[in-house]
Amino acid sequence: MPIPHRKFDALIIGAGGAGLNAALRLASADLRVAVVSKVFPTRSHTVAAQGGVNAALANVLPDNWHWHMFDTVKGSDYLGDQDAIEYMCREAIPTVYELEHAGVPFSRLDNGKIYQRAFGGQSQDFGGDQAARTCAAADRTGHAILHTLYQQNVRARTHFFDEYFAVDLIRDEEGVAIGALTLDIETGEPLVIEAKSTLLATGGNGQVFRTTTNAFINTGDGMAMALRAGVPLQDMEFYQFHPTGVAGKGMLITEGARGEGGFLVNADGERFMERYAPRALDLASRDVVSRSMVTEIREGRGCGPNKDHVLLKLDHLGADVVHHRLPGISDICRVFLGIDPAKDAIPVFPTAHYAMGGIPTDRNARVVAPARHGPEEVVPGLYAAGECACVSVHGANRLGGNSLLDILVFGRAAGTDILRYVAENPNHRPMRDADIEPALARLQRWERTGDGDSVHAVKAELRKLMEDHCGVFRDHETMAAGVEKLNALRARVEDVRLQDHSKVFNTARIEALELDNLVDVGMATLMSALHREESRGAHSRVDFPERDDERWMRHSLYARDGDRMDFKPVRTKPLTVESFPPKARVY
Ligand SMILES: Cc1cc2nc3c(=O)[nH]c(=O)nc-3n(C[C@H](O)[C@H](O)[C@H](O)COP(=O)(O)OP(=O)(O)OC[C@H]3O[C@@H](n4cnc5c(N)ncnc54)[C@H](O)[C@@H]3O)c2cc1C
Repeated sequence: MPIPHRKFDALIIGAGGAGLNAALRLASADLRVAVVSKVFPTRSHTVAAQGGVNAALANVLPDNWHWHMFDTVKGSDYLGDQDAIEYMCREAIPTVYELEHAGVPFSRLDNGKIYQRAFGGQSQDFGGDQAARTCAAADRTGHAILHTLYQQNVRARTHFFDEYFAVDLIRDEEGVAIGALTLDIETGEPLVIEAKSTLLATGGNGQVFRTTTNAFINTGDGMAMALRAGVPLQDMEFYQFHPTGVAGKGMLITEGARGEGGFLVNADGERFMERYAPRALDLASRDVVSRSMVTEIREGRGCGPNKDHVLLKLDHLGADVVHHRLPGISDICRVFLGIDPAKDAIPVFPTAHYAMGGIPTDRNARVVAPARHGPEEVVPGLYAAGECACVSVHGANRLGGNSLLDILVFGRAAGTDILRYVAENPNHRPMRDADIEPALARLQRWERTGDGDSVHAVKAELRKLMEDHCGVFRDHETMAAGVEKLNALRARVEDVRLQDHSKVFNTARIEALELDNLVDVGMATLMSALHREESRGAHSRVDFPERDDERWMRHSLYARDGDRMDFKPVRTKPLTVESFPPKARVY
């Protein structure tokens, strides 16, 4: 039976904040928009975001977007592209007001303005005192934003394909993106969605690590789809480990807990961040705090019988602040640890959290790839936004509260550029059977029967491998061994077989497709980390402990074809203000 086709002006893969903000822009302009999501939209990982979204509203302390921009450039360890950072920090202010007007129930100050809390790496006046820039709805900000955007999309008549899995992009002979092959998870039937433009908004890939704050669905599908379509991934070595994951479990205790006044102590009860970041203390940026914690533990000052974590103290804040400003954290502590954070310290350890790298795009969310002759060019019809993309505004390290901002600002920017693109390219391009063939083959590969490893076993091995060989501290020997093991594992994936070949709600097949994606994204991360011979932001090499601006003010690009590495210069010119030249990064 021929595969059914549906046609839309725009296809958006992913219903998190990035996908939904783009969809809203397009549907409000009366385009026919399809949003595909492998889970019901409001279950996307954006719903889990706790602490808040950054904008220099100056509701609590003095602030302006220049300082936000400086903090972001510094936080990125000077690897972020300054044109994109300027754009994001300026757009932050209208973006948050737009959300407010769309109905996001932000927490309020006594004067009725939006509540803002301090977060890591925020300053007043170019590195001065601590600012309070993170706009919050208690500690459930992502939940508030995602539900509002979903409801606004329903009103704007966005067409949702809930619980459809995107298998691969479809490009025509000339390389133009013309849609995607999807799978209806409920029935197991394939569906081709043809579109004049396609946006990847598939979120992060935290599941590539064993201990992570990320949901099970964060398997880097969009990044792997881009790789298979010949687009290299950018800066994949920069993976953020959040300092305060629940020790041994991984779920997140928001940086807002330290923003509200919480702090870390070691086994001696010492507030050790005083030694590593004398000014910013526990609100230094995440890479700095994570490394300090691991150093304390390595030097024998860890807490607990195994000396394998440190403690986050909130008890001095009083039950009122803890339960009112951090209700979600209180719940997590009660349910998973059986403690009340207003009374007991929380055991914490760094946990895999956020991909700074991803699909390379420009400021308009257009995917850019190296051209065959000369520098990069735009891939026609293809866009990426949100955590799967790399604009790059986070460079080597993202500041807390800047990802919700990134997904909203660049989701919207994608919508704006897609409007232009579809106006200029009003017709669907023809789709031939041959264009769909590679995507279909990928689906059919999992029909093979026989004996072999299980998806589950190989995935567990991969996640352990990544944690052991590409964690907070790295060196050549460990990573080279990691690449070798991952190559062996990649070969074994060929022999993985499914036991269940039924069609209806066959989640085993979905997990198998995700495993393919995780392996590709894992290799991108390891190869990029192996090649960058310096320490910058979240990428910390024991064998190259210094930042090396002369050699490495460059973005890395990993191509799947032959595991090739390439590099391109950082864009250091902002749009309207003067550049911030690299300086030593102290907090
Ligand atoms: C626990 C936690 C707390 C966080 N807190 C904050 C915070 O306070 N502030 C902040 O700025 N950032 C925070 N972050 C980071 C931020 O929430 C995420 O980076 C951001 O929400 C990602 O949004 P997104 O739209 O890119 O993707 P997501 O929200 O992850 O959505 C991805 C979408 O893609 C779909 N999808 C993926 N693959 C496929 C496929 N193959 N087929 C079909 N659909 C697919 C999914 O179904 C989903 O709809 C937090 C992250 C975590 C994990």
